Order: sequence, then structure tokens, then C-alpha cells
Amino acid sequence: MEISGNGDQITADILVVGGGIAGITAAIEASEIGKSAVLVEKEPFLGGRVAKMNQYFPKLCPPLCGLEINFKRLRFNDQVKIMTLTTVEEVTGKPGDFEITLKVEPRYVKDDSPDFDEYVEACPIEVPNQDNFGIDMHKAVYLPQMAYPSIYAVDPSVVNDDKFKSWAKGCKTDIFDLDMKPETVKVKAAAIIWATGWQPYDAAKIDNLGFGKHDNVVTNVIFERLASADGPTQGKIQRPSDNAEIKKIGFVQCAGSRDENHLPYCSAVCCAASIKQANYVREQHPEAEIHIFYIDVRTPGRLEDFYASTDEDEKIFFHRGKVAEVREVSGSKNLIVAAENTLTGKITEMEMDMVVLATGMVPNSVECKPPVDAIMDDWGFLSSDTSSGVVGAGVASRPFDVAASVQDATGSVLKALQMMNRS
Ligand code: SF4
Repeated sequence: MEISGNGDQITADILVVGGGIAGITAAIEASEIGKSAVLVEKEPFLGGRVAKMNQYFPKLCPPLCGLEINFKRLRFNDQVKIMTLTTVEEVTGKPGDFEITLKVEPRYVKDDSPDFDEYVEACPIEVPNQDNFGIDMHKAVYLPQMAYPSIYAVDPSVVNDDKFKSWAKGCKTDIFDLDMKPETVKVKAAAIIWATGWQPYDAAKIDNLGFGKHDNVVTNVIFERLASADGPTQGKIQRPSDNAEIKKIGFVQCAGSRDENHLPYCSAVCCAASIKQANYVREQHPEAEIHIFYIDVRTPGRLEDFYASTDEDEKIFFHRGKVAEVREVSGSKNLIVAAENTLTGKITEMEMDMVVLATGMVPNSVECKPPVDAIMDDWGFLSSDTSSGVVGAGVASRPFDVAASVQDATGSVLKALQMMNRS
């Protein structure tokens, strides 16, 4: 079926919810076998968490490698309609015949605006950069490095700010429309692919590991931004408290995962992610000592080679030990990592300049549940039972790395087609 309708009524074969790597993949794969898709994303740009990474493991190439190809496939694809700043409000109907109500938030920028980089430079208002966890600020009118669609967005918090309004009104070119209002769009679709991705577990809930209490304890997702060229330190890995060079850094594995008090499951990717981040440190700080505290190192399949080659580094140390505590040394702001060997019970303590917590993955479907009777497990991952007409893709189904998310998203299209044939 071709996409039909326009404006506030659209008909397509599949609605894909979530514009990260899994949702993008599902929409493209569906279109390339002749099915039309509406791809909705709540943020102003596609790319999700992958767009915020520094490098993929194990090849250590930038996310641009994978995303750019997909954006190209979308650019010339009239079987995928992309709707950003859009969320699902209601789903009625049944598998094979859904009517979905979408809410589209305003972008406050006209789609056909000319290139207006020069105006943005002069924007007088800055807001916390949420991509960088609010560590730095960016202009209230913004376009991230890998943005797709490549159209500026206005941070909604400034739309009623008099200073911003007066600046926007004074721009020589008519590029803003601050009177834009949210809109409602109805979509008719036979199947729904739910690819809403994940968020990091809230490390502040893990009392003993010091996140939020000690300046030099960060999470793996924050560390990824510190290592990124468009991150708050322009890619320079340094100690948050004093920007000092890293001499001794600790990675704490299973921070919140495999723990009945937090996430009882293994988050699947954080061992390889810490190994990757150890390689970032090694590249920037050839003399630094890197200590990885683990319960088990889980690097399945070909990732085992990545682990083995990293383990050959004379200054990267893997310690079997569940970290019981991270505490700050008064004055130096160094950190003591106390870990218990899971085989011998022996507790060792080591002093670090900085500690990175390998926090786990929480599916966004915990907060953003599909508004139909989709079957979910106790932790919010969607079941493979698709009788509700909703098919999970990527980390909405289970913890996955990027490559496995892409494979799962491709498989989700087949499941959606099977479900459509049955209905
Ligand atoms: Fe722990 Fe590694 Fe599993 Fe992550 S992937 S939860 S760090 S064992």
C-alpha cells in the first residue's frame, strides 16, 4: 500500500514508533519490501541514542557510519513518512485495522526556512544541552551535528521568553513561527512496531556507588559524551572536578544490573561498552592505568576477540570483584573503590582519579507503554507474542547492542507482516 492522505489523516501499512536505529531500520526494511510506514519520533531529530555515541564497538567507528547510510535510504524513500516531535496518544481498532491518534508538538521553525546559521549564532538565549546531560549549554535554536531532518528546532522552554521573542521577531528573514500549536493527526495502519528504545538506569538510586555525591563518578553514557567531539569537553577525557589528566580510572561493571534491588537482568552491552571506553582512555592517555571491576565479563560471539585484544594491554587490568562501595577521599576528590572478589570473598581497595559506572538499560516502554494490550514482561520489555498487533523492535524487546538491535528490527517487520496476513 502507498502512503495516502495528507495533513491530519494518513493511511499506511505500518506505524513505527521510535526514530532510533531500530525504528529507522524497521521503517526502511518495510518500505523496501513494498510496505509503507509512518515513522514517529518524540524528539525533533531521528537517531536516538546511537546519534549520541562516540564510537561503536568493536570496530570503534563513529555512529555516522551506520546512521548516514540509513538517512540516505530515507531521503529518497517516498514509502516512509517521518514525523518528529510526535507521540502516540491513543490506539483504537484491532490488529489489521488500527486507528492511531498522534500528537505533534510545534517546532516553531518554518520547514522551508533558508539556511540561517548566522542568525542562530546571534541567538541571545542558551539552554542546558540535554544531549550532554545538561553539563553544557547550547543555543535555544539548535541543530545537532548529525541531525535528520536537517531543520533547526526551538527549545520550547524559551518560546514565551520576552528576550527570545523580541530577538526572533527582529530576525531579517521570516524563519520562526512562535504561534505554532500542537496538532492532532490520525493514522490508519494494520500493524504497529514499537521501537521506543531505552534509557540508562538511574545511577543515583545505587547509593553505595556515589553517583550524584562525588564529582568524579560518572555513568557510562555520560562518559560517552565526554569522549565525543560534540560533547561538553569536545572529546577531551578529563576529570570532571578539576579537568585534570586521567592517570588512574576505574570502571564498575553491573552498576545496577544483575541486582535484585535494581535491575535483575544482565543489560548485555555494558561489558563491551566499558572495554570500548577503556580503549578511548588508552588512546588519549597512553600512560593511564585502567581498572575494570567485573562479576563476569560477558562479551558473546566475536566480541570475545575485542575483550582478548584489550586484555593484552599491560596497563588495562580486569579485576574479578563486585564493587561494594565508591567513596571520596577528602581534599583530592580521588575515589576509593572497594570490591569483593566473588570467588574468594577477599575485599580489596584501590584509589582512582575517576570512576565510570557501567549502568544498565531500562526499556523506555516502562514509561511510554503502548496504548494497547501489548504483552510485556515484569521489567517492561515487550513479549514476542504479537497477538495484540504490536511488535517490539530493538531494546523495546530486550537489551541489545546496536548490531543486534538492527537485526531484531529487521525481524520485527517479518513478524508485523505475518500478523497482518493473519488479521
Ligand atoms: Fe554486568 Fe556485563 Fe551484563 Fe552489563 S553486560 S550487566 S556489565 S555482566
